[in-house]
Amino acid sequence: MIASGLNFLVIDDDDFLQLATKNMLRSFNAAKILAAPNGIKALEILQVSNAEPIDIILCDLNMPGMDGMEFLRHLGESHYDVSVIVVSSHDDALIAAVKKMALAYGIRLLGSIQKPISRAQLEALILQHKSARPKTPPTAAAAPVFTLEDILRGVEERLFEPFYQPKIEFKTGLISGAEALARWIHPRHGVIAPYAFIRALETSGNIDGLTFLILEKASAACRLLHDKGHAIPISVNLSLTSLSNPALADKITRVVRNAGIDPQYIILEVTESATMTNVAPALENLARLRMHGFGLSIDDYGTGSSSLQQITRIAFSELKIDRSFVNDCSNNRELSVVVRSSIEMAHKLKIKCIAEGVETRQDWETLKGMDCDTAQGYFIAKPMNLASFLEFCAGYSPEALLAP
Ligand code: C2E
Ligand code: CA
Ligand code: CA
Repeated sequence: MIASGLNFLVIDDDDFLQLATKNMLRSFNAAKILAAPNGIKALEILQVSNAEPIDIILCDLNMPGMDGMEFLRHLGESHYDVSVIVVSSHDDALIAAVKKMALAYGIRLLGSIQKPISRAQLEALILQHKSARPKTPPTAAAAPVFTLEDILRGVEERLFEPFYQPKIEFKTGLISGAEALARWIHPRHGVIAPYAFIRALETSGNIDGLTFLILEKASAACRLLHDKGHAIPISVNLSLTSLSNPALADKITRVVRNAGIDPQYIILEVTESATMTNVAPALENLARLRMHGFGLSIDDYGTGSSSLQQITRIAFSELKIDRSFVNDCSNNRELSVVVRSSIEMAHKLKIKCIAEGVETRQDWETLKGMDCDTAQGYFIAKPMNLASFLEFCAGYSPEALLAP
């Protein structure tokens, strides 16, 4: 039976619908079925059901007390390892917005069902739970919490390493680069993902230490890749806050040149999500970085404020569409409109467009059909350490991706 061994939590303020859903789950042989009339009660249940954790939550959106959106926010913040199905009578546009929000909160969303729930739809989504990849961050449930002091010590001891995620050119299927994503190789807790340290470093004004550590290691890796015959650029993430220091561009240039790499092989990804307060020095830095030959990418395009969009024309060489739009764009009209217009804008500005979060062949084909330039995502590969990335490059052949 489809739901054997799975525990469910049904959140709905309508007693009748709640009962109908519970009956359906029972007929699927669900192990445990709990119910709550709103988000507050649901969170209480989650807190006490730790011993026998909930696998799948069916969540209504419109409820008194705490609505579905607020519930999903709390769920994301508390990092429960649980899948979510949104159940709603609302239209596709609203559900698309909620999906985007859930993704931004790091929630593993299986999909949405319109009321009244059909057996076939529910079955399909439960099946998806079984094949679901772990949400990012994968070890969130047991994730330890670190103090700023812990993190700063880790940076000082240089325990952070870039993991590399390949980027593939749609036209040729060839590897066109890789993004360096910071991982903390913690002596006791293992590999720690960025959500556990980036924000703390950024808000306390300490991100530069990590930025330069990653830049230094990524530049050295770039040198090594080139020596092994893979002359690809590496992308490094740059926080918007760092750009307010007018000396930044020259320091970055020095580090890259010291590693024996020409700046044209380093792409700096700047995210537009934080509002830029210090526009003038940021512009100065970006212009200088372009002048030295660096690639500049607008990261997370579509999610943030418009401050970076305003300066698009000046300095950027690449636009990177956020994965919350890319993921599932082949099934969702709203998402595909955003993606298509982003690609068109990039091409009008004569810059490359890259889609991150490409998870399925379907999304790959859709984006290719929209004339997107480059793909990055789990469909190709997850971020990996340098040794694995070298192996990936050595053994890579585009056939598997290009095959219909
Ligand atoms: P980002 O720059 O948007 O990086 C892409 C994120 O999406 C990465 O998460 C990557 O692992 C994940 N990803 C890639 N493909 C897929 C996919 O197909 N599906 C899904 N669901 N996810 C995918 P990661 O490595 O956890 O990094 C999270 C964020 O942390 C990054 O988002 C970036 O904003 C930040 N970050 C990482 N390294 C650094 C760094 O060295 N400096 C700064 N300032 N920020 C960093
Ligand atoms: Ca990035
Ligand atoms: Ca992103």
